[in-house]
Amino acid sequence: MDDVPVFASSARIQARLHAVSATVFPENNVPRSPPPSPSKDDKRRDGVPADVPNALAGKNMFKFTLIPTKNAGADMSAVPRYVPGFVHRRDIEQRTIDLANEAMKPTPPPSPSAEARPGAELPEPEYLRKLKPGDVELVFLGTGSAVPAKYRNVSGFSMQFGGEGYRGNIMLDTGEGSLAQMIRRFGASAVDEKLREMRMVWISHIHADHHVGLPRILTARAEIFRRDGVEPPIIPVVGPRALRRFLDYYEDLERLHCDFIDLSETTQDKWSSETMSPQVARLRTALMGSDLDEIVAVPVHHCAHAYGAKLVGKRGWTMVYSGDTRPCPSLVAAARDATLLVHEATFENGMEEEAVKKRHSTTKEAVQTGIDAGAYRTILTHFSQRYPKIPIFDGTYTERTAVAFDLMSVDFAGLSSLPKLLPAVRSLFESDDEIAREAQIDGDDDE
Ligand SMILES: [Zn+2]
Ligand SMILES: [Zn+2]
Repeated sequence: MDDVPVFASSARIQARLHAVSATVFPENNVPRSPPPSPSKDDKRRDGVPADVPNALAGKNMFKFTLIPTKNAGADMSAVPRYVPGFVHRRDIEQRTIDLANEAMKPTPPPSPSAEARPGAELPEPEYLRKLKPGDVELVFLGTGSAVPAKYRNVSGFSMQFGGEGYRGNIMLDTGEGSLAQMIRRFGASAVDEKLREMRMVWISHIHADHHVGLPRILTARAEIFRRDGVEPPIIPVVGPRALRRFLDYYEDLERLHCDFIDLSETTQDKWSSETMSPQVARLRTALMGSDLDEIVAVPVHHCAHAYGAKLVGKRGWTMVYSGDTRPCPSLVAAARDATLLVHEATFENGMEEEAVKKRHSTTKEAVQTGIDAGAYRTILTHFSQRYPKIPIFDGTYTERTAVAFDLMSVDFAGLSSLPKLLPAVRSLFESDDEIAREAQIDGDDDE
């Protein structure tokens, strides 16, 4: 019932990141009118009809004691309080503010005489300079691996297209809680519109942290159309073959209104006009009016039927999403000169053995893939829940890399300055005693 976040320290991180960049880290969808703070014996009746006596509204962390009878009654003491963002930002150090301001300054173009270090800055591509804010936006709904955790939800992305003549959105991976993350980012009523305008969903592989949120998204979408008295139109869901069985079982309970397309039917050869598969033809129809021309499945090295995606935009941009994978040549080839590579970096450097065993990448390997491919920007994501707040920094990062946080919103028009935010983000975490005090949790299953 409430908009007040239960995880106060994760709300604190979100609020403080907003000070580093108001556009990349938008303020969460905060309650329209901040609710009054609950007191121990607060018996507010939000949502309970006035003609129902002796009824209380349930709240997160609300307790009701039955026995012993001397303590019987409602206890609101653990119900989280609403803390406005500015309160969390009050004690941000000047150093962080200075670094954030520094990042806002325009970047001089790289000088041709600059030493050709690996990962050195590249000139901003011409087509990218023409993109305006709102044309292409990638929202990170979840940036952790394996299981939803306090600071990082599991994988999910929402990509929005706007500007003259373009509209619609797609989703890439939909881990558990992806719909709730969308509501946090866009607000409940805006999410209805997003679901109505959604063109397709793309799932990289069958691990639970990449698809369990899918039925909820599809049923929420169907509800919106039904509420309008319209039969929900069929939406393509591209995924690994095992996903079809999952969706079929689910449809025994409830209709999902989706058209399942096997990833293997959407590889590069299937997109060329001479050999176009019927599945790709259906995708092309669904993508009409959006900025997306192709979404090509790229085989990667993880579990059976695991793929990355190469997205080709009509306005000249390309984006490659690795899914989960070991570094692999197919991905480097797909990401050749890409505008943006979004790459998993489950493990820190020094955990190569673990990364090989679980078929994931380390930070260094992910950054190196971006360098090898000549990608203009690389954003790291899918961090092990061992590093709940911020991944370990060790000099592997280049002028072209950035680190993802939940609800981070990357507008392609601002892509060039994104890596420059890193020093400010880093100092934000170093200087936050409240966050530093919390012990890091230990994760073991990295899917
Ligand atoms: Zn995963
Ligand atoms: Zn996986």
